[in-house]
Amino acid sequence: MPIVSLRDVTKSYPSPTEKGEVVNAIDNVSLDIEQGEVFGIIGYSGAGKSTLVRLINALEPVTRGTVEVDGTDITGLGERDLRTMRLEIGMIFQQFNLFNSKSVAKNIAYPLVIAGMPRAERARRVAELLDFVGLSDKGRSYPDQLSGGQKQRVGIARALATNPRILLADEATSALDPETTHEVLGLLDRVNRELGITIVVITHEMDVIRSIASRVAVMEQGRIIEKGGVFDVFSNP
Ligand code: ADP
Ligand code: ADP
Repeated sequence: MPIVSLRDVTKSYPSPTEKGEVVNAIDNVSLDIEQGEVFGIIGYSGAGKSTLVRLINALEPVTRGTVEVDGTDITGLGERDLRTMRLEIGMIFQQFNLFNSKSVAKNIAYPLVIAGMPRAERARRVAELLDFVGLSDKGRSYPDQLSGGQKQRVGIARALATNPRILLADEATSALDPETTHEVLGLLDRVNRELGITIVVITHEMDVIRSIASRVAVMEQGRIIEKGGVFDVFSNP
């Protein structure tokens, strides 16, 4: 059973220019992402990638179609069930989205505080996460004291805090130089292999998909125009 399944999903927004018209940011998309894989979604700016991410974690409702996460149709869920569902999904971002006024440890602990985890257990979990991402000596540092790669490792630790089954990486290496990108992709590979977490990598960079994903969907104008194994999609005989 796929861990994420979209069936005939359309997401429309009011057209910014034509009164009464709509723009389909996602246009009749069907997609299965299998448990344990690294799945890439690639496309130019405006293709609909971020919208797709917001539909998968139900930050926005679909206009038509169904989205299933871990076997549950999330399109009909109320706020309470959605909050529970979102614990299954971790997210990392291009601009890291860390709190600058909080220490690294507090940033990582943040989702655990929200989830109501007791302080002693939280401390253990934060130490474990810092260790996993190789930042055991940075718990008391602040984000602006870290390099870009270190900030993204904190982002990954925070995303993993609640033990999600899926990690959504939205342009997570787009603000990083090639060497740091390589290092962060190496960590994501460990997240996938050692923790068994399904990863969805959204990017406009083909090299990122090539180095980490096994399957890829190519998006253009809200549609998936091609889908398959990375080697098949990107090889040009
Ligand atoms: P990508 O992430 O691939 O750059 P997006 O999902 O951000 O693409 O955008 C896809 C299309 O949907 C674009 O035409 C964009 O202008 C439109 N769009 C996205 N979000 C909104 C919104 N909240 N309101 C109106 N239009 C939107
Ligand atoms: P608090 O004062 O609310 O415990 P802290 O900033 O001390 O907040 O840290 C948040 C969590 O991370 C706490 O559970 C804390 O015990 C733990 N923690 C703090 N610093 C470190 C560190 N250097 N290594 C591992 N865990 C840490």
